[in-house]
Amino acid sequence: MAIPKIVILGAGYGGIMTAINLQKSLNYNEAEVTLVNKHDYHYLTTLLHEPAAGTVSSEAVKVKVKDLINEQKINFRKGIVESVDTANRRVILEDGELEYNYLVMALGSEPETFGIDGLKEHAFSIRSLNASRVIREHIQYMFAKYKYDKDEANVTFVVGGAGFTGIEFVGELADRIPELCAQYDVPREKVKIYNVEAAPTVLPGFDQVLVDYAMKVLTEKGVDFKINMPIKQCTPDGIVLASGEEIRSKTVVWTGGVRGNSIIEKSGFETMRGRLKVDPHLLAPGYDDVFIIGDLALIMNEQAGRPYPPTAQMATQQAPVCAHNLLAKIRGGQLKEFVPQLKGTLASLGKGEGIGMIGKRKLLGNTAALMKKASDLRYLYMLGGLSLVLKKGNLLRRV
Ligand code: FAD
Ligand code: NAD
Repeated sequence: MAIPKIVILGAGYGGIMTAINLQKSLNYNEAEVTLVNKHDYHYLTTLLHEPAAGTVSSEAVKVKVKDLINEQKINFRKGIVESVDTANRRVILEDGELEYNYLVMALGSEPETFGIDGLKEHAFSIRSLNASRVIREHIQYMFAKYKYDKDEANVTFVVGGAGFTGIEFVGELADRIPELCAQYDVPREKVKIYNVEAAPTVLPGFDQVLVDYAMKVLTEKGVDFKINMPIKQCTPDGIVLASGEEIRSKTVVWTGGVRGNSIIEKSGFETMRGRLKVDPHLLAPGYDDVFIIGDLALIMNEQAGRPYPPTAQMATQQAPVCAHNLLAKIRGGQLKEFVPQLKGTLASLGKGEGIGMIGKRKLLGNTAALMKKASDLRYLYMLGGLSLVLKKGNLLRRV
């Protein structure tokens, strides 16, 4: 009998952890597993706001895929996925095709721009390591440009959306500004950071005490919040709010939400904001050979009456279930159901500051920042054991 072919698309949180879990239990020649990723490295998406602001190097948040997988059991293919032909069980890559018997789609998300005029064309977004590098270099260039032409739009930074990504990014950016001011000899008072939010509060739906704390810390660091003010247009010269007010800026970073990677729609799946409602075994409905995990998977929180937010926590919890179910498929065992065990939320507000909710316990300040650091280190441990923690742990920013 032919050896079954398993193809995993994406080596982010969901994909790499599925491969790592699979390689632990897979016997030699039991399956031919191929992991496909755009880059030959895995990046820590949850830390991308740091290299984007320039507070840590981009090297600190990337790990070579080949250092994480056992190449005797998993083949790595660097390649760009274009679509999936489910009828013929083929993955179409930019430079070829792959056949599969079982597929895992873990391609993450992309920015949701809600059709807002000019955002796609003129705003940056923190969507990959390369995108983060571009943001960091652009910010630095804007300081140089301000020294040259004294246009204050060059040192006005707009972050659109005050969800967790927006809040974490403005925290880092506010930490970076004094260093850039010193380097380029720009007075701090010339630099503006606006965090613009459509909802009546930052971090809509999050605990009010922690929201108030986050706003206090960030305001003291020099962030101006514009709350209840939806962005309705983005141009090369800044943003226009629904009220008609304009903010002149040469740097707009859009953190207003995400949707699933469009490859899932290109492959003919029906989605809600690019996410596919999976069955309890993480299978695409109507398929017994396509698993969907991470930001691509939509799972309802029946108690709350809305989907669970797409997080790394969800993706990493889905991975062992997905690996188990792949083995069950090839060995003929029982499939497991995925039940989220959410531990809480932790967010950084820049150096030494954070907020978090673990169960019903509220954390703030340095305690939350330390817990966030501990959760980053825990992930490194899951990924590559103690040796990766020792190699990378000190490169991640100190609390
Ligand atoms: P990803 O981890 O994004 O991985 C997708 C992978 O697919 C990437 O390696 C990418 O290169 C690859 N890929 C994409 N398209 C293609 C293609 N066409 N061909 C080949 N490969 C492709 N969540 C938390 O739980 N806690 C946090 O603290 C947290 N902080 C965050 C901070 C930031 C700044 C951001 C942006 C997100 C944060 N999140 C956090 C959310 C979390 O990062 C995502 O939910 C998580 O990364 C989803 O995992 P994934 O495997 O679905 O996708
Ligand atoms: P989000 O959807 O959580 O937040 C987007 C914010 O942008 C919302 O507050 C929304 O009201 C606002 N917005 C939307 N349209 C707007 C407009 N026109 N003008 C101004 N504001 C607008 O998106 P995100 O922050 O990118 O997070 C994506 C996912 O990643 C979420 O599930 C989040 O929980 C997760 N995440 C988690 C962490 C963490 O746990 N530390 C950090 C970052 C992201």
